[in-house]
Amino acid sequence: MNYQGIQKWIIPKHILDETIFAVKEKGHHGYELFVFWAGKKIEQHSFEVTELLIPKQTGYKSPQGAWVDIPGDELNRLNMYLYKHKLSMPIQVHSHPGRAYHSQRDNEKSVLIFPGSISMIIPNFGKTSFKSFADWAIYQKSNGWEQIAPQKARTLFIIKE
Ligand SMILES: [Zn+2]
Repeated sequence: MNYQGIQKWIIPKHILDETIFAVKEKGHHGYELFVFWAGKKIEQHSFEVTELLIPKQTGYKSPQGAWVDIPGDELNRLNMYLYKHKLSMPIQVHSHPGRAYHSQRDNEKSVLIFPGSISMIIPNFGKTSFKSFADWAIYQKSNGWEQIAPQKARTLFIIKE
């Protein structure tokens, strides 16, 4: 799989809303949440998200920050599910207590590995009301993870009502 050629990522509004709702709920208790957006390529250069997948995970918090751990067997279960339903999972989304950026742990422990995969980070546990994807930090996998400029994120990710 390679997602580098995708020029349009279509995100249904209800998936965005459900993600923010789940992120806020965890954040309320001081924990990050890590989720995936799965879907299908619909044209050569477009990908449509159709499902929010919230894996079983353990959240940790310490004075140094918060993080989550997703067990390997849970990732295997997700992969089986994707295979069965002919879906792929090019987007991971997780929250941070404060500023949104790709931390060293995020780089090292990233679940997604295919070129062009997307990693979105929601700042402030999702408490800041969502205006556009420019509010989040969004990275794309190439050799490492490279940040997508906020102006570009606005046009690359389309919210479908
Ligand atoms: Zn992170």
